Amino acid sequence: MSFATPTTLLPPQEARGRRHFGQFSLRRRVLLSQLPLTISAALVVIAVMVIDPGVALESPYIAIGFGGILFLTLLAGVVPWHRLPPVLYWIIPLLDFVAIAPLWTASRYVLDGMSLLTAFPVFWLAWSGFYPVLALSLGFIGTAAATWWPYLPGTAPYTDELIESNLTRPVMVPFMMLSLGAAASILTRSMEKQRLELRASLEKSKSQNRLLQAVVETSDVGILVVDGQGHDVLMNQAQRRTHFIGLPPGRNDGAEHELLLFEADGLTPILPNERPVAQALQGREYRGRIIAIGTDGSQQHLSVSASAMYDDDGEFDGTVVVFQNVTDLMDAIQTRERFVAEVSHEFRTPLTSIIGYLDLAMEEDLDPTLRQFLTTSQRNAERLLTLVTSLLDAAADSSKVTVQTVDLSRLTRYSVESAEVRARNSGLTLASDLPDQLLAKADPVKMGQVLDNLLSNAIKYTPAGGSITISLRCLPGMDEKGDWAELAVEDTGFGMTDQERAKLFTNFYRTEHVRKAAIPGTGLGLAITQSYVRAHGGEILVNSEKGVGSTFTVRIPIAGPAS
Ligand code: ADP
Repeated sequence: MSFATPTTLLPPQEARGRRHFGQFSLRRRVLLSQLPLTISAALVVIAVMVIDPGVALESPYIAIGFGGILFLTLLAGVVPWHRLPPVLYWIIPLLDFVAIAPLWTASRYVLDGMSLLTAFPVFWLAWSGFYPVLALSLGFIGTAAATWWPYLPGTAPYTDELIESNLTRPVMVPFMMLSLGAAASILTRSMEKQRLELRASLEKSKSQNRLLQAVVETSDVGILVVDGQGHDVLMNQAQRRTHFIGLPPGRNDGAEHELLLFEADGLTPILPNERPVAQALQGREYRGRIIAIGTDGSQQHLSVSASAMYDDDGEFDGTVVVFQNVTDLMDAIQTRERFVAEVSHEFRTPLTSIIGYLDLAMEEDLDPTLRQFLTTSQRNAERLLTLVTSLLDAAADSSKVTVQTVDLSRLTRYSVESAEVRARNSGLTLASDLPDQLLAKADPVKMGQVLDNLLSNAIKYTPAGGSITISLRCLPGMDEKGDWAELAVEDTGFGMTDQERAKLFTNFYRTEHVRKAAIPGTGLGLAITQSYVRAHGGEILVNSEKGVGSTFTVRIPIAGPAS
């Protein structure tokens, strides 16, 4: 795949430069139309000279006829027909009848079928495309005149041989030529119609092609189309610019496999068979895969999508890969995250101090009203601290985990015990189904936060009278990573719709019901939970039905994330 691929397909090399009959100059077309008769007449003259030279020598007709045809051929080649009214070149086929008459008169004593010579001007007139009826009539009259002429008294060169001849002998020739001429005329007209239709559809497809080219070239999104064999079919301007950014330093051109491509972190090189185009050529389809292209200051982030194309037989026929530059968006997200992290950090210190002094104040002997005010202040300050801590957790690099061997059963039991009081106060029953021990390589702090968050959500979003069940089990030999641990938190709470479920792990997302009910929360917990579970090489799944309840299931490999 080369860099300088044109946007549109060019016709194949051999198709270029070769012109067809209709594209020649009028003079050349007239000459080419006359030549078959000239060549046939020359062959007739040669045959007569070889078979019976006396016929040619006794009468001047052969010389007159052939000379006339040669003269008309010369005329066809030298007259600037394009400067004259188009139909004027009919003069050549019409005069051909005059030249054919003496040639035919003499040669028919030696050769059969000489009346066929009239077919050349008849056809020519018929397919000229002008005045079809007039052309056919002139062909008929020309043929009749040429074939009846020798029967006029005094025109036969060899009277002896003509004894048996009479005027009725060639009577059918003009009619047969008329039929042939009519067939040629009909064929020509239908071909002309097809030609016009073809030209119209060619024009249409050309204008569609121009439109497509304009759209593709104007687009800011890089577009690359590769055929089934891996050859570039189309690369637009935007993609050529992107390609340039990815070239190794000091290079002005290079193939796709030479481009410097990295994972979204901008540092990890993408393995050859995981490069976007390589994957697309394997028939893979994907949306919004984030990669980085180029190095140092010029590095850009791209969101790549690929769609495979299939032919009528369902065979892979190539792929369309679209590259959208999302560098500004990525910078904006990073700036926002940095801002949130810095602001939260700055808030935490004064907040901790406020809570500390409120604690001290509450230890004093206080007026009941003042105590009530201080209690409210303390509660809200603590809520604010929880929010700030969540924001900091969300902004922190959640992909790093410090693993050690942890008894997940014990960890879960601690979480359940600390949640029990809150569950009871909310009128909920909390049940657990845990094995005695389940050892796994995990980060105890982060897995503890996962458990706390799922349990606290279940308590917050289940109305009084409901129940919560937490269970832990081992899934033996689930895949090549070996055994997995599965933790499920099931509640009989508000539940949610499928649309809500799809957005659940997005930062700051909260369902409408919860927002309206003013249940406190930040909408960050599940996003953090998901990133912690993923950092363990695991996954989190949600099953939920509105008004019935939800089950959050966390699965992590027991051998740890590196497995
Ligand atoms: P928060 O609980 O602080 O709002 P989360 O990220 O933990 O943030 O949860 C996001 C949203 O998901 C919640 O606001 C709530 O709408 C919904 N949600 C989470 N857990 C449950 C649950 N167990 N039952 C019903 N809705 C839930």
